[in-house]
Amino acid sequence: MSTILVVAEHRQNALRPVSFELISAAHGLKKSSDDKVLVAVIGSQSEAYVEALSVNGVDEVVVLKSSVSDFDPDIFEAALSALIESKKPSVVLLPHSVDSMGYAATLASKLRCGFSTDVFIAEYQGDELVATRGGYNQKVNVEVDFPSKSCVLMTIRAGAFKPLEGKASPVVSNFDLPAVQSRSQNKEFIELGGGNDIDITTAEFIMSIGRGVGEETNVEQFRELAETAGATLCCSRPIADAGWLPKSRQVGQSGKTVGACKLYVAMGVSGSIQHMAGMKHVPTIVAVNTDPAASIFTIAKYGIVADIFDIEEELNNQLST
Ligand SMILES: Cc1cc2nc3c(=O)[nH]c(=O)nc-3n(C[C@H](O)[C@H](O)[C@H](O)COP(=O)(O)OP(=O)(O)OC[C@H]3O[C@@H](n4cnc5c(N)ncnc54)[C@H](O)[C@@H]3O)c2cc1C
Repeated sequence: MSTILVVAEHRQNALRPVSFELISAAHGLKKSSDDKVLVAVIGSQSEAYVEALSVNGVDEVVVLKSSVSDFDPDIFEAALSALIESKKPSVVLLPHSVDSMGYAATLASKLRCGFSTDVFIAEYQGDELVATRGGYNQKVNVEVDFPSKSCVLMTIRAGAFKPLEGKASPVVSNFDLPAVQSRSQNKEFIELGGGNDIDITTAEFIMSIGRGVGEETNVEQFRELAETAGATLCCSRPIADAGWLPKSRQVGQSGKTVGACKLYVAMGVSGSIQHMAGMKHVPTIVAVNTDPAASIFTIAKYGIVADIFDIEEELNNQLST
């Protein structure tokens, strides 16, 4: 029997959706029905997340009560170090996030675990655990294996695994944190670049504009179209870099992964590796581009080789009748 440990992540008193994607990834790594998926949740109100984490795929929720409500790398590192020593998991899954960047590498190094970051496929090839991540600025996929490692720690890319459906009744246990002297103190939480803008990671219907819009003055008509259609307007990086839309609406590797999106309409977006990293998992992708060779068509369910302004006009006509 082996144990797969998932570390749930929460921010501003809400579980981050990636926590459920990690549970799905962990479930996929079970080699037999004896294997167990444990979900650890750390915080001053960690017991408040037990109900939400009681979902299919979870065998046990481990509650670790810390003295602070916000993320603290020293506390996470010490707590997980003690938990891993105690539970001896074969795999530990963390979200690939700014939080885990603060402690994952140190934790893996101290415990001499195998380690890979930004993993989007985790699977057994025979008896060998293999993690797939991007390489050379996401231009190639790199397979990483961990010969002779009894424990492997991976940070998992948001949006790479589909959460399992349904509730469950896992065992709930408590684990005492070791005494730890934190070197930092949280003063204030600031969401960079977004202000009070919406959270695009929870949007189900997205219309995304790329450099094909041409000029800033053209953005408004796509904003209106998105609003009429009931879509959330997002963009590729050049649009955010130019300040035509807020950075919080950028989809992709250095933007956001649109984890909840079911329908993604890409208007004048070429489909760079970096953009697709944030949306290629969406079940229905519609792409409009004048270039029939645009990469976005390789992942689109419906491709339209056309001028986005013609499509915008046609959609407005259809929606207004
Ligand atoms: C480290 C790093 C991180 C990055 N992170 C991100 C990221 O998070 N998100 C992101 O998006 N990019 C990111 N990028 C940038 C990325 O490499 C691309 O430069 C960017 O995605 C291109 O944006 P685009 O598709 O809007 O523009 P372009 O690649 O210029 O594509 C514009 C497309 O519009 C089409 N077009 C032009 N006019 C029309 C028209 N009238 N009608 C229809 N189609 C038209 C063109 O045929 C073209 O395919 C990153 C790059 C690096 C190096």
